[in-house]
Amino acid sequence: MNSIKMVDLKGQYDAIKEELDISLDSVLNTTSFINGPAVKKFQTNLQKYLNVKHVIPCANGTDALQLAIMSLNLSPGDEIITSDFTFASTAEVVLLMGLKLRLVDINQKTFNVDPSSIERAITSKTKAIIPVHLFGQPAEMEKIVEIAKQNNIKIIEDNAQALGAAYTFNNGLRKKTGTIGDIGTTSFFPSKNLGAYGDGGAIYTDNDSLAKKIRILANHGMDKRYYHDLVGLNSRLDSIQAAILDVKLKYLDNYNERRRDSASRYSSNLKGINNVITPNIPPDSHSHVFHQYTLRILESKRDLLAEHLTKNSIPYGIYYPVPLHKQKAYYNPKVDNKFFPVTNRAVNEVISLPMHTELSNDQIDYISEKIIKFLN
Ligand SMILES: *Cc1c(COP(=O)(O)O)cnc(C)c1O
Repeated sequence: MNSIKMVDLKGQYDAIKEELDISLDSVLNTTSFINGPAVKKFQTNLQKYLNVKHVIPCANGTDALQLAIMSLNLSPGDEIITSDFTFASTAEVVLLMGLKLRLVDINQKTFNVDPSSIERAITSKTKAIIPVHLFGQPAEMEKIVEIAKQNNIKIIEDNAQALGAAYTFNNGLRKKTGTIGDIGTTSFFPSKNLGAYGDGGAIYTDNDSLAKKIRILANHGMDKRYYHDLVGLNSRLDSIQAAILDVKLKYLDNYNERRRDSASRYSSNLKGINNVITPNIPPDSHSHVFHQYTLRILESKRDLLAEHLTKNSIPYGIYYPVPLHKQKAYYNPKVDNKFFPVTNRAVNEVISLPMHTELSNDQIDYISEKIIKFLN
């Protein structure tokens, strides 16, 4: 058995090396490194894959969130609601833009933002909700869309961990995550489900005027060259990354299928084990793309289990060890810790196991066996 990795980028690269080399060679030979044809091609293919009108590639997933917020014309004092349990980017950009951050608690089963907590956090100043499809599982979009409509609030979906996941509404409408709200954002950080070999990100929307504005904002606020109508950013996906992503996009569904297979093998191995709660598997209609396979370990045994895994050369991740409302940078003394019972508990219980496209059944069984022996 090969050594177990948390993410195996080398194994994945080796499997598609020839195709990648051809794609990379063409960028190197044309030397069209910025906004070259490779970027346009990837943009068009991602639009088709997502079934969305506009994809705007950008430099990373954090910029994608910032550009989405910038496009909404908000003013200081306006509020944005998001999950207390997510990667810092989601909250960081709200504060960077001088807006008020309203963090809310999550659902214990899905780790996703809890719609009833969103409802309670809404004020007359609330302008947007950022649901995060955490660990690859769609948030409860049926309710979130309803709440947003009722209160005339925009939805920006942080789809950094769930590219390729889909969500089916009660009326049968099925949409890819990130294309449900007003704007979707994603990241191509190497370990994401569709990972570049460096940084990258994208914004997507069906709204023509938002798309136009975001494209301008990402390009120094200029539509016509050297005429700056808005204060913007320089946020681009470079051609080399686009060439890599365009090859890998063809394999994304297959990669996600492999992640789902690995998840179901872990879950059947770990079923009924003391103090282990395996991840929620949504009904088929709401596909989960398992960016992470995250267990909850009860009875304060998580850290002991983590030590045991390390002793057996099994890597793991704790996503995330501190809820955002307790982070030094985002702490607000006016916000009571009692509003976050679920995240406060999750941070002490979660542990993510190795999850990637190259994981073998032997490796999954070995990891499961070590967990079972330790906890049973
Ligand atoms: C990775 C990630 C981001 C940020 O992406 P970068 O490309 O690293 O800037 C934002 N939100 C979530 C939920 C993420 O997992």
